[in-house]
Amino acid sequence: MIALIQAGGAGTRLKSITGDTLLKPMVPIGGKPILEHQVISLARSGVEHIWMVCPGHTNQIEDYFGDGSKWGVSIHYFKELIPLGTGGALFYAAKVFKEDFFLLFGDLMLDIDFGRFMKFHKAHNSIITTFAHPNSHPYDSDVLVPGENSKVVHLLSKKEPRDFYYENLTNAGVYVVSKELLDTFLDLDEPVKMDFEKELLMPSIYADGVYAYRSSEYVKDCGTPDRYESVGRDLEKGVVESRNLRNKQRAIFLDRDGVINKFGNFVKKADALVLKEDAPGALKRINESPFLAICITNQPVVARGETTFGELKQIHDKMQVLLGERGSYLNGLYFCPHHPDKGFEGEVPELKFDCDCRKPKIGMLLKAKEDFNIDLEKSWFVGDTKQDVQTGINANCRTILITSGDPNPDGKYPNAKPDFICKDLAEAVDIIFKEEGVN
Ligand SMILES: [Zn+2]
Repeated sequence: MIALIQAGGAGTRLKSITGDTLLKPMVPIGGKPILEHQVISLARSGVEHIWMVCPGHTNQIEDYFGDGSKWGVSIHYFKELIPLGTGGALFYAAKVFKEDFFLLFGDLMLDIDFGRFMKFHKAHNSIITTFAHPNSHPYDSDVLVPGENSKVVHLLSKKEPRDFYYENLTNAGVYVVSKELLDTFLDLDEPVKMDFEKELLMPSIYADGVYAYRSSEYVKDCGTPDRYESVGRDLEKGVVESRNLRNKQRAIFLDRDGVINKFGNFVKKADALVLKEDAPGALKRINESPFLAICITNQPVVARGETTFGELKQIHDKMQVLLGERGSYLNGLYFCPHHPDKGFEGEVPELKFDCDCRKPKIGMLLKAKEDFNIDLEKSWFVGDTKQDVQTGINANCRTILITSGDPNPDGKYPNAKPDFICKDLAEAVDIIFKEEGVN
């Protein structure tokens, strides 16, 4: 595997840290330049050759990294004599690269299992695969709009007004780019300035060639003093490395109704969804810990014909927008639309069966386990019914029952005994962090 890192760029917004001369990718975090953290992560994934696009006026990067042997990789350089924007340097790569490659921007702190990323890219045969994740500020981020099978159908620019609900799925700025796209540069006689997003990513989206690789791994921009500080803290706490999907993950699985949103009757339309007061703050604490936040919900309203898949998507998009406005997010969301009992007026017959995902069965947890490499035995399940507690027990998770309503409305699972009982998600997070020694 090979990679291209765009390592130009002066740290104008980081002047207080970089001074006048240090390049942004050379800004140290935890004693190493950001760029070195990238090289280490690439090397650990088995990437053998790394090309860096460096500015013409200084040799800072070349002097530091040399031929890369210190990191067990071969590092090569493209010298950018005139600034070519975020995409123009692909002109040089087109002449050398013989395979699909990772494209990184040098101001991102990251630790990714690149092999897993490439496997997804190959399986989808993408022109460009973009690393996609929820973040704590979707409202001022570019957001990917995914269609079927993770194909990206649109990129919502942060500059466009958004008076609608959308999935919190932002474009992290890390890509796998196909050789096929690179070959379009072979027609050029000389490099031209080019914007990667506008002139390469957008047209590839409209050519149906871009797929979103959803991941919970750590990728964060450190371009402002605030973000720089927070990335430094994450590195110190071990969150950056522990999130790499090569490592087993720990999750806090959350029921939806009565845990994240208020539960009166079933929520059948987006209008009816109201967050519980404590939920965004509690989720934010999970987001900043080594745990993943994953929602697991039964939504038999779909099988009963009371809510369509489209309406359920609206409900979930609204939930993510509201959480995002308060700086929090879910790493994953799984729902079961099925229901076993036939005989409701307007029901959807093909969803009426005894599936493997409806809680207390653990189909959704097993899917999450596969998607995020989760160790279920080191994970927690938080819900407001005995059915949730039984689900957690069935999956060997530790369990917490939230007392927000009747915990056992249908009288099933009387023997499901939670490890802890408390009043809301905020308290549940207190308990989990205390038990797990998370600060
Ligand atoms: Zn199901």
